[in-house]
Amino acid sequence: MGQAASALGRHAVVIGGSMTGLLTARILSDYFEQVTILERDRFPVEAPAPRKGVPQCTQLHILLTRGRQIMEDLFPGLEAELIDAGAAVLDMGADVEWLNPFGWAARFSSGFKALSFSRYILDWLVHRRLSQFDNIQILESIYVVGLLANVEKTAVTGAIVRRRGGEHSEPVQREELAADLVIDASGYSSQAPKWLQAIGYDAPEETVITTSMGYASRLYEIPTDFQADWQGVYIQAAPPERTSMGVLYPIENNRWIVGVCATAPSRPSKDEAEFLEALRHLPSPHIYNAVKAATPATAIGIYHPPGNRLRHYERLSRQPQGFIALGDAVCSFTPIYGQGITVAALGAVLLQQCLQETALAELPSCFHQELAKVNATPWIAATSQDAKYPNVKGLAQPPTLPEKAIGWYMDQLIQLTTKEPQVTLVLFNVFHMVQSSGALFQPSILLRVIQQLLIRSSSKTWSKMRVSASSITSR
Ligand SMILES: Cc1cc2nc3c(=O)[nH]c(=O)nc-3n(C[C@H](O)[C@H](O)[C@H](O)COP(=O)(O)OP(=O)(O)OC[C@H]3O[C@@H](n4cnc5c(N)ncnc54)[C@H](O)[C@@H]3O)c2cc1C
Repeated sequence: MGQAASALGRHAVVIGGSMTGLLTARILSDYFEQVTILERDRFPVEAPAPRKGVPQCTQLHILLTRGRQIMEDLFPGLEAELIDAGAAVLDMGADVEWLNPFGWAARFSSGFKALSFSRYILDWLVHRRLSQFDNIQILESIYVVGLLANVEKTAVTGAIVRRRGGEHSEPVQREELAADLVIDASGYSSQAPKWLQAIGYDAPEETVITTSMGYASRLYEIPTDFQADWQGVYIQAAPPERTSMGVLYPIENNRWIVGVCATAPSRPSKDEAEFLEALRHLPSPHIYNAVKAATPATAIGIYHPPGNRLRHYERLSRQPQGFIALGDAVCSFTPIYGQGITVAALGAVLLQQCLQETALAELPSCFHQELAKVNATPWIAATSQDAKYPNVKGLAQPPTLPEKAIGWYMDQLIQLTTKEPQVTLVLFNVFHMVQSSGALFQPSILLRVIQQLLIRSSSKTWSKMRVSASSITSR
């Protein structure tokens, strides 16, 4: 299956076979005669399973609706395969309890559906689909260690790799792989800036914002006699006062994935008692009460992500010909809004547009400029939330007046979720990137915000009048 309809080049090489690499390879297969994915790790063979190269894959992963739609376009029928594999279908308004900084969001039948499953089942299904493409080869146990350049050092012409002999052996054999286009999809640990410097280019500037957040999660068997009027729970952090959050979602095989996250010095550990204690200390007992009698199905997996990092490839004065980067290798952020895979998918779609409209020589500059725009909104969403944490590092300056105004407006909307389903539904659509943030400012939503402000100010006036009246009568 799959042969380049209009070959732009002979060979494209993708570094990294996680979600960005897999989706990108799918796009490239329409434009290149041959696509090769180079992955340092090995993919599971027998059944879906976590793998070392993607250490975050044991943690809860939400696939936003926009990401799911893009993946369904790229792999028709994928959604049905996920459901067949046991993914839970949740009505986000009716089935999920959401405690936000202002209280519990009102539950309602929203019609807004999300699928809940383990991260590695998604990778498994997508990998399986890609394996059916004749012009995509997936090479495992191969470390990319550098980039090849032409003699004039004006273009990237391939990748330098080291192949591992056996599963436990160190990578040894050095090989060169020529390519018309090299894509860096090697995630947060990407060494591309160093590789580019080694062939005479500048490294991109970086913005790094950290909060020392740590994540722990574990799968539990859902007890057969468990009863509740919800299927999932999301207890949101409310920084700076409350810096921990907890989640419980049903996934395939009749299990829950339960996660807790907190900043240092309270970062969760692998210790069983500490994990339960962290769940017990969440501001609602929902999750603790559900899991305390449930049987754990896995050990506790922890992950301490290094923080938000944005690499500004678009600012390079000399763009490396024949090379582009996307996914976490360029923009990686706190997973609070579950945006990573969807942003990777948006990057893949952008690449498709650029390949349709741009000559290969112009691709890096055009792609990196446009990718910066795609990354901008999710980056602001994630980092403006992180900016509220007391131990945040890397903020260049305090929030500007427009940023403060947007933060204030978002707080008004989140507060309205406790009583206004219409607002919650618009927020779902924006958080899931189905609608742009402009939808938050539509007249009916603005009206709700104004009404809320008027009610609040009139109730303040009434209570002041009551206080003065009672002081008069008591005199
Ligand atoms: C705790 C946590 C929770 C998250 N939750 C969500 C969520 O709910 N929803 C969501 O959408 N996203 C979430 N994310 C983000 C999501 O995991 C990533 O955005 C997603 O995996 C896409 O990343 P990627 O493919 O660009 O990089 P990665 O997933 O990091 O993959 C990089 C790949 O490159 C390979 N590689 C690296 N170096 C080399 C090399 N030199 N040679 C060959 N191969 C190499 C690695 O083995 C790996 O396979 C979360 C992230 C974290 C840390």
